[in-house]
Amino acid sequence: MKWYKKDQHFLIDEHVLGRITEYGNLNSLDTVLEIGAGFGNLTEKLARKAGKVIAIEVDPELASSLNRFDNVEVIVGDAMKQDFPHFNKVISNLPYSISSPVTFKLLENKFDMGILMYQHEFAERMVAIPGSKDYGRLSIAVQYRANVEIMEVVPRLAFSAPPQVNSAIVRLVPQPPPYEVNDVDFFMKFVTAAFSQRRKKLKNAILNNAAFLGISDKALEKLPPDMIDRRAETISPEELAKLSDILFEEKI
Ligand code: SAM
Repeated sequence: MKWYKKDQHFLIDEHVLGRITEYGNLNSLDTVLEIGAGFGNLTEKLARKAGKVIAIEVDPELASSLNRFDNVEVIVGDAMKQDFPHFNKVISNLPYSISSPVTFKLLENKFDMGILMYQHEFAERMVAIPGSKDYGRLSIAVQYRANVEIMEVVPRLAFSAPPQVNSAIVRLVPQPPPYEVNDVDFFMKFVTAAFSQRRKKLKNAILNNAAFLGISDKALEKLPPDMIDRRAETISPEELAKLSDILFEEKI
């Protein structure tokens, strides 16, 4: 078995395929990127509504079956190793093993809307708000760049072969950052540190990650004490951004 076969859960439920296409609100001016097109069951529906579909598929056998459509450009290869060509919508039943890196790679591009299938648990983490058990680095990093919404949960049996867990269709609409932060890379590192020990107070999580963040223990004295006595999961992204900005100034 080749390494990528594990990601081949083909969506066979016609109703779900139809609704994914509807959520995309397609017309002839749209250029749709599809990542992991498989044998083209979703591609076919997209190609009927959009002006053009660009389908990336790593499995050469599956990719060769995609040449049957007039308005589909097929790219045979690994989506993580390709520069994405211009597109304005991305609609895909994603290979789950690359859910996170491919989402952030997509968000480096300019586009209008994504309709993307993820594992349900991953989708819940994408849309989670402060105070919920799923809120964390993924929620903050995605919501910094896009509006995200779960459109529907899709049962395992909508696929052949059925994956182990349910899936969910997510609508992703890129947006300018909803709050300001001095250094985005440092902020993302800070968020990683803050959530590395979710059950602990923020001050302990920061102290245990001082070297990772490149700050001294003393830097903590600059942060509001009442705030760092809380757990990261109760603190909003905007508040975390303010704390990150203070620590960024204290970097050694
Ligand atoms: N779009 C089809 C559907 O909805 O039934 C197939 C979806 S299946 C979940 C994911 C597809 O992505 C498979 O066809 C697999 O070969 C392909 N794939 C896996 N990893 C990939 C990668 N890194 N780049 C491009 N395609 C990939």
